[in-house]
Amino acid sequence: MQSTGSVPDYTFLDQMEAAGPFHAAECFQCRKCTSGCPATFAMDLMPDQVIRYALLGLKEEVLRSRTIWVCASCETCTTRCPNGIQIAEIMDYFKELAVREGIPSPVPQVLALHETFLDNVRQGGRVFEGSLLPIFFLRSGQLREKLRKGTWRDDARMGWRLLRKRRFALAPRPIKAREEIRSILRPSKRRGVLP
Ligand code: SF4
Ligand code: SF4
Repeated sequence: MQSTGSVPDYTFLDQMEAAGPFHAAECFQCRKCTSGCPATFAMDLMPDQVIRYALLGLKEEVLRSRTIWVCASCETCTTRCPNGIQIAEIMDYFKELAVREGIPSPVPQVLALHETFLDNVRQGGRVFEGSLLPIFFLRSGQLREKLRKGTWRDDARMGWRLLRKRRFALAPRPIKAREEIRSILRPSKRRGVLP
């Protein structure tokens, strides 16, 4: 990724560790995280570079990177790191921080998926698959594209097959602790951490 040449923020590591701790300062650049990551093909910064940039205070570069959004949270990096650095958790923290600071995601579809998922859970206390994908397609603009190309038919066929196999319900089944889930998500929404 090309550097934008922003001024380093030397408090960035302290901010991060206050939100963690993630133990990022213990990184010795062995790159074990990057060599095990299954999503590097879609990244502009490798996971070890994200940590290095963060240590150097290059907050803008990190928060504007594709990497934090295409990270699949699979935790392979965290498991492989010999220093116990919480890399997957750091990626989540950077996503939250980017949203909080109003930095647009370079991969808006991923942000749309996060927003849709959280709205969905907020409503029923758990995910309702019947509305998750349609709303995501609408929100991300993919519905228009699917209608234009006619690929919506493939999705409809798959949905029908799943429905026949009872892999998802036609109506949401709210859980008993729905209000508890809402109360967990509400304060985060107020702070602007969550969409
Ligand atoms: S595996 Fe851990 S120590 Fe090695 S480069 Fe990645 S974050 Fe740094
Ligand atoms: S959690 Fe993210 S950065 Fe770590 S290995 Fe998985 S995809 Fe890569």
